[in-house]
Amino acid sequence: MTEQNDQVVRQLVEKVLQHVESGWGGRVAPATGKGASKPITSSGYVPASSGSAAPATTTNRFGQFTNVDDAVAAAKTAQRALVCRSLAQRESACELIRQICRDQAVELGRMEFAETKIGHAPHKAQKLQVAADCAMGTEALKTGCFSGDYGITLEEAGPWGVIGVITPVTHSLPTLAVNAVNMIAAGNSLVCNPHPSGKKIAAYGAMLFNKAIYEKLGIDNLICVITEPTLESANQIFSHSDVGLLVVTGGPGVVAAALRSGKRAICAGPGNPPVVVDASADLDNAARCIIEGATYDNNLLCLAEKEVFVVSSVFDQMMDAMSRAGAHRLTPQQMDQLAGKCIASPSGGGIPHAVKEFVGAEPQALAQAIGVSISPSCRLLYGQTDATSPLVQGEQMTSVLPFVKCDSFEQAVDLAVEAEHGFRHTSIIHSRLVDHMTYMGKAMNTTLFVKNGPSLAGNGGGGEGYGTFSIACSTGEGITTPMTFTRFRRCTMVENLRII
Ligand code: NAD
Repeated sequence: MTEQNDQVVRQLVEKVLQHVESGWGGRVAPATGKGASKPITSSGYVPASSGSAAPATTTNRFGQFTNVDDAVAAAKTAQRALVCRSLAQRESACELIRQICRDQAVELGRMEFAETKIGHAPHKAQKLQVAADCAMGTEALKTGCFSGDYGITLEEAGPWGVIGVITPVTHSLPTLAVNAVNMIAAGNSLVCNPHPSGKKIAAYGAMLFNKAIYEKLGIDNLICVITEPTLESANQIFSHSDVGLLVVTGGPGVVAAALRSGKRAICAGPGNPPVVVDASADLDNAARCIIEGATYDNNLLCLAEKEVFVVSSVFDQMMDAMSRAGAHRLTPQQMDQLAGKCIASPSGGGIPHAVKEFVGAEPQALAQAIGVSISPSCRLLYGQTDATSPLVQGEQMTSVLPFVKCDSFEQAVDLAVEAEHGFRHTSIIHSRLVDHMTYMGKAMNTTLFVKNGPSLAGNGGGGEGYGTFSIACSTGEGITTPMTFTRFRRCTMVENLRII
């Protein structure tokens, strides 16, 4: 072999090795580190050959802002930097947020509990683990395609830009974390006005997330938080011209305010999930499931069991099953006493609401408030009430569950529909009869409908499917995912590119 031939063979071998090692056929793999993969201008993408660079982000703020205009401007710059990065870089930002939630769950959960002072302390860390496990990233982005005589059309999921976010006190950091992963996966940045009673943990969590993302990708402020949130700052976000979309998670007041803003709003509003138990149900399983769902974080979850309607033929057995499963039974008089403490009825009528002092309280604290002593291991109080009890009609969000005796299955469903108030959130049935399940499912018309399991199963917790902390029942998007936070964009090539 000549020297020239030797060289050709060496070059060929090098090329083959390069190909095998890169796994990208010798092409450059999508960037996962700091480098921008596509430069942009202020109005969007420009070809790489133009030589312009991604905008420099305002650094070392790590998302901490007192002023809405400054926060939106920083989030806008960050978003413009994000969209010129690869999908792999977006995904690595999402993974950093999940990793922090996983690795620091105990410490962050402890901080959330210390600040908000509501719920069941051990569940705070668990909720952050759940946030890490359930938060979907770029894998959830879907592209649609049509191919035919006229050519090819692609339908792609584009970002909105800066999203205005409102989070609840019931799960301040878990909501922000899952929203952030979903929204960043979709190419957005966010400005969050957290609940004032959960503002410190939201700001601290955002600081950790931004810092990690900045260190890996060189982009700061993808998740901006108003550190001193007020109704005024919420309204500034609602009306800001650079905020393209609002995503609110909270009660009826904030949902109404967001819908009045004139912007597109995705609203994860209130619920008051009813449970129906019919004569065919496995009562011991029903009791265990009801207790599991209703006691999670002391009933702070919007999807948790809030009132139970039981047909009269198995009412007494169901009440006994609840005791066997560990709940503490109160008398109807004690239930009325507790209703007076936990629920306030608006003076001008309307739906009763929870009294702040008892939201997320332990059952021992509730029992003490009415002079009852219960075992330290008990997780739930329960007892019989009328369907008109404020504990049935109000979203109590605490460790007591009212049980209503019903003449028939149909009456139980009618009362359940009434108690749900048209929130279209969650309902639950315990039954072995498919006819009853179908009847109730149609009548309730809720976003989640769970059969023979705890409410949590409807959100991926022990049931099939994915989950989130923002279930958009009010505006119909349902369990939010990265796709929820995208804009539909279509790209059509006429009479070309179809290769068959
Ligand atoms: P909340 O309504 O008191 O507060 C929620 C957020 O809205 C807070 O950040 C608050 O500061 C803000 N807010 C309230 N009124 C506002 C207004 N008029 N304008 C602008 N912002 C306003 O609710 P909460 O106690 O924090 O959370 C519990 C409520 O949230 C329950 O009703 C629960 O069902 C609901 N929730 C729903 C979901 C869901 O996924 N659907 C998830 C969690 C909580």
